[in-house]
Amino acid sequence: MKLILVKYGELTTKKDNRKQFIKILNKNIIDKLRDYNIDIKYDLSRMFIIPKDDNIEEIINKVKDVFGLHELVIAYQVNNDVENIKEEVLSILKDKQFNTFKINTKRSNKKYPIHSLEFNNIIGSLVLKNFTCKVDVHNPELLINIEIRDDFAYIYTNQDRVKAVGGYPVGIQGKGLLLLSGGIDSPVAGYLALKRGVDLECLYFESPPHTSVEAKNKVLELAKILNTYSGNIKVHVIPFTKLQEAIYKNIPETYMITILRRMMYRIAERVAKKRNCKILINGESIGQVASQTLTSMSVINNVTNMPVIRPVACFDKLEIIELSKKIGTYKTSILPYEDCCTIFVPKHPVINPELSRCIEYEKLIDYNLLIDEAVKNMETIKKLEKNEFKDLL
Ligand code: ATP
Ligand code: MG
Repeated sequence: MKLILVKYGELTTKKDNRKQFIKILNKNIIDKLRDYNIDIKYDLSRMFIIPKDDNIEEIINKVKDVFGLHELVIAYQVNNDVENIKEEVLSILKDKQFNTFKINTKRSNKKYPIHSLEFNNIIGSLVLKNFTCKVDVHNPELLINIEIRDDFAYIYTNQDRVKAVGGYPVGIQGKGLLLLSGGIDSPVAGYLALKRGVDLECLYFESPPHTSVEAKNKVLELAKILNTYSGNIKVHVIPFTKLQEAIYKNIPETYMITILRRMMYRIAERVAKKRNCKILINGESIGQVASQTLTSMSVINNVTNMPVIRPVACFDKLEIIELSKKIGTYKTSILPYEDCCTIFVPKHPVINPELSRCIEYEKLIDYNLLIDEAVKNMETIKKLEKNEFKDLL
Protein backbone atom coordinates (compact mmCIF):
# COMPACT_ATOMS: atom_id res chain seq x y z
CA MET A 1 0.00 0.00 0.00
CA LYS A 2 1.24 3.49 -0.92
CA LEU A 3 1.10 6.23 1.66
CA ILE A 4 2.58 9.65 2.38
CA LEU A 5 5.31 9.96 4.95
CA VAL A 6 5.52 13.44 6.44
CA LYS A 7 8.82 14.75 7.75
CA TYR A 8 8.50 17.57 10.25
CA GLY A 9 11.85 19.28 9.58
CA GLU A 10 12.13 22.56 11.49
CA LEU A 11 9.54 21.47 14.04
CA THR A 12 11.91 18.96 15.47
CA THR A 13 14.15 21.74 16.80
CA LYS A 14 11.37 22.96 19.07
CA LYS A 15 11.58 20.17 21.64
CA ASP A 16 9.29 21.61 24.31
CA ASN A 17 6.53 22.57 21.94
CA ARG A 18 6.76 19.52 19.79
CA LYS A 19 3.53 17.87 20.91
CA GLN A 20 1.59 21.07 20.39
CA PHE A 21 3.19 21.66 16.98
CA ILE A 22 2.28 18.23 15.76
CA LYS A 23 -1.25 18.43 17.10
CA ILE A 24 -1.89 21.71 15.27
CA LEU A 25 -0.20 20.44 12.13
CA ASN A 26 -2.39 17.35 12.22
CA LYS A 27 -5.50 19.50 12.56
CA ASN A 28 -4.44 21.76 9.69
CA ILE A 29 -3.78 18.78 7.43
CA ILE A 30 -7.17 17.29 8.27
CA ASP A 31 -8.80 20.69 7.50
CA LYS A 32 -7.01 20.92 4.17
CA LEU A 33 -7.94 17.36 3.20
CA ARG A 34 -11.49 17.41 4.51
CA ASP A 35 -12.89 16.50 1.08
CA TYR A 36 -10.69 13.43 0.82
CA ASN A 37 -10.99 9.95 2.19
CA ILE A 38 -7.85 9.54 4.29
CA ASP A 39 -6.45 8.26 7.57
CA ILE A 40 -3.69 9.96 9.53
CA LYS A 41 -1.35 8.25 11.97
CA TYR A 42 1.34 10.14 13.84
CA ASP A 43 3.85 10.10 16.62
CA LEU A 44 6.51 12.55 17.74
CA SER A 45 8.91 11.77 14.91
CA ARG A 46 6.72 11.34 11.87
CA MET A 47 3.28 11.30 10.42
CA PHE A 48 1.64 9.08 7.81
CA ILE A 49 -1.20 10.21 5.58
CA ILE A 50 -2.95 7.16 4.24
CA PRO A 51 -5.16 7.77 1.19
CA LYS A 52 -8.04 5.33 1.00
CA ASP A 53 -8.67 6.04 -2.68
CA ASP A 54 -6.24 5.89 -5.58
CA ASN A 55 -5.33 9.61 -5.54
CA ILE A 56 -2.01 9.95 -3.77
CA GLU A 57 -0.58 12.51 -6.26
CA GLU A 58 -3.62 14.76 -5.87
CA ILE A 59 -3.37 14.61 -2.10
CA ILE A 60 0.34 15.41 -2.17
CA ASN A 61 -0.34 18.43 -4.35
CA LYS A 62 -2.95 19.69 -1.94
CA VAL A 63 -1.05 19.07 1.24
CA LYS A 64 2.39 20.32 0.22
CA ASP A 65 1.26 23.91 0.80
CA VAL A 66 0.35 23.29 4.43
CA PHE A 67 2.75 25.35 6.55
CA GLY A 68 4.90 23.26 8.85
CA LEU A 69 5.47 20.52 6.29
CA HIS A 70 8.99 20.36 4.93
CA GLU A 71 9.13 17.18 2.99
CA LEU A 72 6.70 14.53 1.88
CA VAL A 73 7.80 11.10 0.81
CA ILE A 74 5.80 8.45 -0.99
CA ALA A 75 6.32 5.34 1.10
CA TYR A 76 5.21 1.76 0.68
CA GLN A 77 3.75 -0.12 3.60
CA VAL A 78 4.07 -3.91 3.73
CA ASN A 79 3.82 -6.66 6.31
CA ASN A 80 7.16 -6.80 7.99
CA ASP A 81 8.28 -10.32 7.14
CA VAL A 82 11.39 -10.50 5.06
CA GLU A 83 9.86 -12.13 1.96
CA ASN A 84 7.23 -9.42 1.69
CA ILE A 85 9.84 -6.71 2.01
CA LYS A 86 12.04 -8.30 -0.67
CA GLU A 87 9.16 -8.55 -3.08
CA GLU A 88 8.16 -4.91 -2.50
CA VAL A 89 11.73 -3.63 -2.94
CA LEU A 90 12.01 -5.37 -6.30
CA SER A 91 8.70 -3.95 -7.41
CA ILE A 92 9.63 -0.37 -6.34
CA LEU A 93 13.04 -0.51 -8.03
CA LYS A 94 11.60 -1.65 -11.37
CA ASP A 95 10.77 1.99 -12.23
CA LYS A 96 13.93 3.63 -10.89
CA GLN A 97 17.01 4.86 -12.74
CA PHE A 98 20.19 4.26 -10.77
CA ASN A 99 23.77 3.08 -11.11
CA THR A 100 24.64 3.09 -7.43
CA PHE A 101 22.58 2.43 -4.33
CA LYS A 102 22.62 1.95 -0.60
CA ILE A 103 20.23 0.23 1.77
CA ASN A 104 19.50 1.90 5.09
CA THR A 105 17.52 -0.28 7.48
CA LYS A 106 16.17 0.97 10.80
CA ARG A 107 14.47 -1.27 13.31
CA SER A 108 12.22 0.43 15.81
CA ASN A 109 11.00 -3.09 16.60
CA LYS A 110 14.06 -4.35 18.46
CA LYS A 111 12.57 -7.81 18.79
CA TYR A 112 12.69 -8.28 15.05
CA PRO A 113 14.81 -11.43 14.42
CA ILE A 114 17.15 -9.88 11.82
CA HIS A 115 19.55 -7.06 12.77
CA SER A 116 19.74 -3.90 10.68
CA LEU A 117 23.16 -4.58 9.17
CA GLU A 118 22.24 -8.11 8.28
CA PHE A 119 19.03 -6.82 6.75
CA ASN A 120 21.04 -4.33 4.66
CA ASN A 121 23.09 -7.25 3.36
CA ILE A 122 20.08 -9.41 2.51
CA ILE A 123 18.35 -6.64 0.56
CA GLY A 124 21.63 -5.36 -0.92
CA SER A 125 22.43 -8.82 -2.37
CA LEU A 126 18.92 -9.04 -3.77
CA VAL A 127 19.29 -5.70 -5.56
CA LEU A 128 22.76 -6.60 -6.93
CA LYS A 129 21.40 -9.86 -8.27
CA ASN A 130 18.45 -8.27 -10.05
CA PHE A 131 19.80 -4.94 -11.36
CA THR A 132 23.00 -3.77 -13.02
CA CYS A 133 24.40 -1.54 -10.31
CA LYS A 134 26.96 -1.08 -7.56
CA VAL A 135 26.83 -0.27 -3.88
CA ASP A 136 27.97 3.23 -2.90
CA VAL A 137 27.67 3.87 0.82
CA HIS A 138 28.83 7.50 0.66
CA ASN A 139 26.95 9.08 -2.21
CA PRO A 140 24.40 6.65 -3.65
CA GLU A 141 22.10 7.69 -6.50
CA LEU A 142 19.36 5.63 -4.92
CA LEU A 143 19.01 5.46 -1.16
CA ILE A 144 16.54 2.77 -0.12
CA ASN A 145 15.20 3.28 3.39
CA ILE A 146 13.54 0.39 5.17
CA GLU A 147 11.92 1.05 8.53
CA ILE A 148 10.83 -2.00 10.40
CA ARG A 149 8.18 -1.27 12.97
CA ASP A 150 6.08 -3.51 15.22
CA ASP A 151 3.19 -3.83 12.83
CA PHE A 152 4.52 -2.98 9.40
CA ALA A 153 7.62 -2.12 7.42
CA TYR A 154 7.90 1.09 5.43
CA ILE A 155 10.04 1.39 2.34
CA TYR A 156 10.90 4.67 0.62
CA THR A 157 13.68 6.08 -1.50
CA ASN A 158 15.34 9.45 -1.97
CA GLN A 159 13.74 9.63 -5.42
CA ASP A 160 10.21 9.77 -4.03
CA ARG A 161 10.59 12.99 -2.10
CA VAL A 162 8.47 16.08 -2.65
CA LYS A 163 9.60 19.38 -1.19
CA ALA A 164 6.87 21.04 0.86
CA VAL A 165 6.45 24.68 1.75
CA GLY A 166 8.09 24.71 5.22
CA GLY A 167 7.38 27.24 7.97
CA TYR A 168 5.36 26.60 11.11
CA PRO A 169 1.78 25.31 11.39
CA VAL A 170 -0.72 28.18 11.27
CA GLY A 171 -2.03 28.86 14.76
CA ILE A 172 1.06 27.86 16.71
CA GLN A 173 1.90 31.52 17.31
CA GLY A 174 -1.53 32.85 18.15
CA LYS A 175 -3.25 35.61 16.20
CA GLY A 176 -2.10 38.73 14.36
CA LEU A 177 -4.19 41.48 12.77
CA LEU A 178 -3.29 42.08 9.11
CA LEU A 179 -4.03 45.50 7.63
CA LEU A 180 -5.24 44.25 4.30
CA SER A 181 -5.65 46.69 1.44
CA GLY A 182 -6.40 45.79 -2.15
CA GLY A 183 -2.75 46.24 -3.11
CA ILE A 184 0.02 43.83 -3.92
CA ASP A 185 2.04 44.11 -0.72
CA SER A 186 -0.31 43.39 2.15
CA PRO A 187 -1.57 39.98 0.92
CA VAL A 188 2.06 38.90 0.52
CA ALA A 189 2.79 40.17 4.03
CA GLY A 190 -0.17 38.12 5.27
CA TYR A 191 1.08 35.01 3.51
CA LEU A 192 4.53 35.36 5.08
CA ALA A 193 3.02 35.82 8.55
CA LEU A 194 0.84 32.73 8.08
CA LYS A 195 3.95 30.85 7.06
CA ARG A 196 5.54 31.62 10.42
CA GLY A 197 2.55 30.11 12.17
CA VAL A 198 0.56 33.31 12.82
CA ASP A 199 -3.20 32.95 12.55
CA LEU A 200 -4.71 36.00 10.84
CA GLU A 201 -7.64 38.27 11.16
CA CYS A 202 -7.78 41.05 8.57
CA LEU A 203 -8.71 44.69 8.87
CA TYR A 204 -9.84 46.75 5.91
CA PHE A 205 -10.62 50.49 5.96
CA GLU A 206 -13.28 51.54 3.51
CA SER A 207 -14.50 55.02 2.68
CA PRO A 208 -17.76 54.80 0.81
CA PRO A 209 -18.84 56.50 -1.41
CA HIS A 210 -15.25 57.50 -2.23
CA THR A 211 -14.29 53.83 -2.41
CA SER A 212 -16.50 51.38 -4.24
CA VAL A 213 -18.08 48.11 -3.27
CA GLU A 214 -15.81 46.49 -5.88
CA ALA A 215 -12.77 47.70 -3.91
CA LYS A 216 -14.15 45.99 -0.82
CA ASN A 217 -15.00 42.79 -2.68
CA LYS A 218 -11.49 42.74 -4.05
CA VAL A 219 -10.11 42.77 -0.51
CA LEU A 220 -12.50 39.97 0.45
CA GLU A 221 -11.31 38.01 -2.54
CA LEU A 222 -7.68 38.49 -1.45
CA ALA A 223 -8.61 37.32 2.04
CA LYS A 224 -10.24 34.31 0.47
CA ILE A 225 -7.04 33.43 -1.35
CA LEU A 226 -5.08 33.80 1.91
CA ASN A 227 -7.70 31.63 3.54
CA THR A 228 -6.65 28.70 1.34
CA TYR A 229 -3.41 28.70 3.35
CA SER A 230 -5.08 28.96 6.71
CA GLY A 231 -8.75 28.10 6.74
CA ASN A 232 -10.23 30.44 9.30
CA ILE A 233 -9.56 34.04 8.32
CA LYS A 234 -12.07 36.70 9.27
CA VAL A 235 -12.24 40.18 7.76
CA HIS A 236 -13.22 43.26 9.74
CA VAL A 237 -14.32 46.26 7.74
CA ILE A 238 -13.97 49.69 9.32
CA PRO A 239 -16.13 52.57 8.02
CA PHE A 240 -13.43 55.21 7.59
CA THR A 241 -15.29 57.91 5.65
CA LYS A 242 -15.94 60.37 8.48
CA LEU A 243 -12.41 60.27 9.81
CA GLN A 244 -10.97 60.56 6.34
CA GLU A 245 -13.20 63.52 5.48
CA ALA A 246 -12.28 65.21 8.78
CA ILE A 247 -8.61 64.79 7.92
CA TYR A 248 -9.03 66.25 4.46
CA LYS A 249 -11.02 69.19 5.76
CA ASN A 250 -8.75 70.11 8.66
CA ILE A 251 -5.19 68.86 8.24
CA PRO A 252 -2.56 70.60 6.09
CA GLU A 253 -2.14 68.73 2.85
CA THR A 254 1.44 67.57 3.33
CA TYR A 255 0.53 65.82 6.61
CA MET A 256 -2.74 64.23 5.51
CA ILE A 257 -1.35 60.79 4.77
CA THR A 258 0.84 60.68 7.88
CA ILE A 259 -2.16 61.46 10.05
CA LEU A 260 -4.46 59.17 8.12
CA ARG A 261 -2.05 56.35 8.80
CA ARG A 262 -1.72 57.25 12.48
CA MET A 263 -5.51 56.94 12.68
CA MET A 264 -5.36 53.55 10.96
CA TYR A 265 -2.81 52.33 13.50
CA ARG A 266 -4.90 53.64 16.40
CA ILE A 267 -7.96 51.82 15.15
CA ALA A 268 -5.96 48.69 14.35
CA GLU A 269 -4.64 48.58 17.89
CA ARG A 270 -8.18 48.87 19.28
CA VAL A 271 -9.45 46.08 17.05
CA ALA A 272 -6.43 43.86 17.75
CA LYS A 273 -6.97 44.11 21.49
CA LYS A 274 -10.66 43.40 21.11
CA ARG A 275 -9.95 40.37 18.92
CA ASN A 276 -7.08 39.04 21.01
CA CYS A 277 -4.48 39.61 18.30
CA LYS A 278 -0.95 40.05 19.66
CA ILE A 279 0.62 41.94 16.76
CA LEU A 280 -0.25 44.16 13.83
CA ILE A 281 0.98 43.12 10.38
CA ASN A 282 1.12 45.30 7.31
CA GLY A 283 2.57 45.49 3.81
CA GLU A 284 4.86 48.47 4.34
CA SER A 285 8.18 48.33 2.58
CA ILE A 286 11.05 50.67 3.41
CA GLY A 287 11.17 53.65 1.09
CA GLN A 288 8.30 52.54 -1.17
CA VAL A 289 6.27 55.73 -0.70
CA ALA A 290 6.54 58.89 1.41
CA SER A 291 4.69 57.28 4.32
CA GLN A 292 7.21 54.43 4.38
CA THR A 293 10.47 56.29 4.91
CA LEU A 294 12.09 55.42 8.22
CA THR A 295 11.09 58.78 9.68
CA SER A 296 7.49 58.34 8.53
CA MET A 297 7.33 54.81 9.88
CA SER A 298 8.60 55.92 13.25
CA VAL A 299 6.22 58.90 13.51
CA ILE A 300 3.26 56.79 12.41
CA ASN A 301 4.23 53.87 14.64
CA ASN A 302 4.41 56.23 17.61
CA VAL A 303 0.68 55.89 18.30
CA THR A 304 0.93 52.26 19.39
CA ASN A 305 3.06 50.05 21.62
CA MET A 306 1.92 46.94 19.89
CA PRO A 307 4.56 45.15 17.82
CA VAL A 308 4.07 46.00 14.14
CA ILE A 309 5.48 43.28 11.91
CA ARG A 310 6.28 44.24 8.33
CA PRO A 311 7.14 41.00 6.58
CA VAL A 312 8.01 42.69 3.24
CA ALA A 313 9.83 45.69 4.76
CA CYS A 314 13.13 44.70 3.15
CA PHE A 315 11.85 43.22 -0.09
CA ASP A 316 12.17 44.94 -3.47
CA LYS A 317 8.85 45.58 -5.18
CA LEU A 318 9.80 43.04 -7.85
CA GLU A 319 10.42 40.40 -5.22
CA ILE A 320 7.02 41.12 -3.68
CA ILE A 321 5.36 40.87 -7.10
CA GLU A 322 7.07 37.57 -7.79
CA LEU A 323 5.83 36.14 -4.51
CA SER A 324 2.32 37.48 -5.06
CA LYS A 325 2.23 35.64 -8.40
CA LYS A 326 3.41 32.47 -6.72
CA ILE A 327 0.79 32.58 -3.97
CA GLY A 328 -2.00 33.50 -6.36
CA THR A 329 -2.93 37.01 -5.21
CA TYR A 330 -1.32 39.08 -7.98
CA LYS A 331 -4.11 39.00 -10.58
CA THR A 332 -6.65 40.11 -8.00
CA SER A 333 -4.34 42.77 -6.53
CA ILE A 334 -3.89 44.53 -9.87
CA LEU A 335 -7.61 44.91 -10.54
CA PRO A 336 -8.16 48.66 -10.81
CA TYR A 337 -10.27 49.76 -7.84
CA GLU A 338 -9.52 52.80 -5.72
CA ASP A 339 -8.39 52.28 -2.16
CA CYS A 340 -8.91 54.83 0.61
CA CYS A 341 -5.18 55.66 0.48
CA THR A 342 -5.31 56.41 -3.23
CA ILE A 343 -8.17 58.91 -3.13
CA PHE A 344 -7.41 62.56 -2.36
CA VAL A 345 -3.68 61.91 -2.59
CA PRO A 346 -1.71 65.06 -1.74
CA LYS A 347 0.79 66.25 -4.35
CA HIS A 348 3.67 66.60 -1.92
CA PRO A 349 3.28 64.34 1.10
CA VAL A 350 5.88 65.00 3.77
CA ILE A 351 8.83 62.62 3.66
CA ASN A 352 10.26 63.52 7.06
CA PRO A 353 7.24 64.30 9.23
CA GLU A 354 7.71 65.71 12.71
CA LEU A 355 5.92 64.08 15.60
CA SER A 356 5.22 67.38 17.36
CA ARG A 357 3.49 68.73 14.27
CA CYS A 358 1.33 65.62 13.98
CA ILE A 359 0.24 66.01 17.58
CA GLU A 360 -0.50 69.69 16.99
CA TYR A 361 -2.54 69.06 13.81
CA GLU A 362 -4.46 66.17 15.36
CA LYS A 363 -5.89 68.60 17.92
CA LEU A 364 -7.86 70.05 15.03
CA ILE A 365 -10.12 67.01 14.84
CA ASP A 366 -12.11 65.17 17.46
CA TYR A 367 -10.54 61.93 16.45
CA ASN A 368 -11.25 59.91 19.62
CA LEU A 369 -14.95 60.24 19.04
CA LEU A 370 -14.63 59.34 15.37
CA ILE A 371 -12.47 56.33 16.20
CA ASP A 372 -15.01 55.12 18.78
CA GLU A 373 -17.75 55.40 16.22
CA ALA A 374 -15.76 53.64 13.49
CA VAL A 375 -14.88 50.72 15.76
CA LYS A 376 -18.46 50.48 16.99
CA ASN A 377 -19.74 50.25 13.42
CA MET A 378 -17.18 47.71 12.29
CA GLU A 379 -18.58 44.91 10.16
CA THR A 380 -17.11 41.41 10.48
CA ILE A 381 -17.20 38.92 7.66
CA LYS A 382 -16.64 35.38 8.80
CA LYS A 383 -17.48 33.35 5.75
CA LEU A 384 -15.29 33.98 2.74
CA GLU A 385 -17.09 32.05 0.06
CA LYS A 386 -17.89 34.24 -2.89
CA ASN A 387 -15.63 34.75 -5.83
CA GLU A 388 -16.65 38.13 -7.26
CA PHE A 389 -13.93 38.39 -9.83
CA LYS A 390 -13.61 35.00 -11.38
CA ASP A 391 -14.78 36.35 -14.76
CA LEU A 392 -12.12 39.07 -14.75
CA LEU A 393 -9.13 36.90 -13.87
P1 ATP B 1 -0.19 47.28 -0.74
O1 ATP B 1 0.89 47.89 0.11
O2 ATP B 1 -0.98 46.24 -0.06
O3 ATP B 1 0.26 46.94 -2.11
P2 ATP B 1 -0.76 49.87 -1.19
O4 ATP B 1 0.63 49.90 -1.68
O5 ATP B 1 -1.87 50.50 -1.90
O6 ATP B 1 -1.19 48.42 -0.99
P3 ATP B 1 0.17 51.45 0.90
O7 ATP B 1 -0.41 52.76 0.68
O8 ATP B 1 1.55 51.10 0.51
O9 ATP B 1 -0.80 50.36 0.30
O10 ATP B 1 -0.08 51.11 2.43
C1 ATP B 1 0.83 50.38 3.20
C2 ATP B 1 0.12 49.34 4.03
O11 ATP B 1 -0.92 49.93 4.81
C3 ATP B 1 -0.58 48.31 3.20
O12 ATP B 1 0.32 47.30 2.79
C4 ATP B 1 -1.61 47.80 4.17
O13 ATP B 1 -1.02 46.90 5.11
C5 ATP B 1 -2.02 49.05 4.91
N1 ATP B 1 -3.19 49.66 4.26
C6 ATP B 1 -3.24 50.64 3.32
N2 ATP B 1 -4.51 50.92 2.96
C7 ATP B 1 -5.31 50.12 3.70
C8 ATP B 1 -6.73 49.91 3.80
N3 ATP B 1 -7.59 50.59 3.08
N4 ATP B 1 -7.16 48.97 4.66
C9 ATP B 1 -6.31 48.26 5.41
N5 ATP B 1 -4.99 48.41 5.36
C10 ATP B 1 -4.47 49.32 4.53
MG1 MG C 1 2.52 49.32 -0.68
